[in-house]
Amino acid sequence: EPVILPRTEHDLSRRRIDENSLKVLYRLQQHGYKAYLVGGGVRDLLLGRQPKDFDIGTDATPEQIRKLFRNCRLIGRRFRLAHILFGDNERIEVATFRRKPLDAEVPDDDPFFCENQFGTPEQDAFRRDFTINALFYNIEDFSIIDYVGGLEDLRLGRIRVIGDADERFVEDPVRMLRALEFAARLGFELDDAIAPAIGRRAAGIALAAPARLREEVLELFRHKVAGKVLQKADRYGLLADLLPDLQPSRELFDLLRQVDVRTASGTAIDESLALAALYLPAFRQRLVEGSLAEVFKQANALLVPHCQRYSIACGIRHQARELLVGFYRFARGRGHRGEQRFLRHPAAAQAFVLFQLWWEASRQEGELLESWRRALAGEEAPAAKVGAPGRR
Ligand code: ATP
Ligand code: MG
Repeated sequence: EPVILPRTEHDLSRRRIDENSLKVLYRLQQHGYKAYLVGGGVRDLLLGRQPKDFDIGTDATPEQIRKLFRNCRLIGRRFRLAHILFGDNERIEVATFRRKPLDAEVPDDDPFFCENQFGTPEQDAFRRDFTINALFYNIEDFSIIDYVGGLEDLRLGRIRVIGDADERFVEDPVRMLRALEFAARLGFELDDAIAPAIGRRAAGIALAAPARLREEVLELFRHKVAGKVLQKADRYGLLADLLPDLQPSRELFDLLRQVDVRTASGTAIDESLALAALYLPAFRQRLVEGSLAEVFKQANALLVPHCQRYSIACGIRHQARELLVGFYRFARGRGHRGEQRFLRHPAAAQAFVLFQLWWEASRQEGELLESWRRALAGEEAPAAKVGAPGRR
């Protein structure tokens, strides 16, 4: 039996719910369907955070949902999900309650993707990953419905897997990374069962669909927890299977934390910058004084396998390579051939961002950073050669 928290005993306020999501909830309810706010939206509202999106769960089937909303698109394999569109850019996801597939229903070709079957609200709660992600807000009486102990875990600040951690990590290995991500984002502790289970199941992450891994890693950067989470992943033995060509080191994690600080201060993260930062320490380690062509080759040797594995477009790979090569040109000091031309190149300013992040993260000292900054800003005469070999 679920714990039901009546409206008087929680402070999730309807005013914090997006207006269009409320409309959808009420319309479903008025037509006799169950209508719950589900998942991350409930979690964030109970924590006093502004949710990114508001997902809705219902016992109406996709066809029934479509009949209620003019602005509705059914999506997914065999139309399992409804999107209700508002204006140009608002999209509310409405999903019929589902249950976990039985083993017999899991297709052989893609073990982590299969058609979920419709189910009860209880089954829908139990198919979710963590207890704090499985709470429902019932629009009928404004109560919170908790089948899995999520309210207690929210109170305790604890990430707990629903069911057996080993089993759920085998079922979907991406959950291991998500556990670390939510812990870092919310400042929560991992339940005791999680770290040992990751230790046993880490290798499974290599089997997850590359597109999902790419997206989850990018989510870490977007939520400014890449440094923290990947360092934890390294400690728990997950990183080697997630990003096998990385060079885990203090240098790497400090740099990633610096990238996160930049994102936290309001600059959106580009995938190319994230990639270049991930591979910068390995790139630096491979560098021997050589021609620029050699430096290009080293950057490619790291980026090409990664981009192939994750189907990352050439444009992004190209930009990441420009960042690494640009970094090299900044790091080797001033006064090399072609410097002025390089400084006018559009990639130089972005590469300088990477150089500066590395400089700050690894607490470099001296004049070089400032000298390059002035040169890029056009604040010096072209003849100046600060820090060049053989000069003062
Ligand atoms: P946010 O969007 O803020 O990152 P969220 O909790 O909304 O957090 P989503 O990835 O948007 O996370 O997923 C929505 C919900 O779907 C989750 O709250 C969870 O209940 C469920 N879910 C997502 N991924 C999984 C998974 N791999 N296994 C089981 N349930 C999942
Ligand atoms: Mg979400």
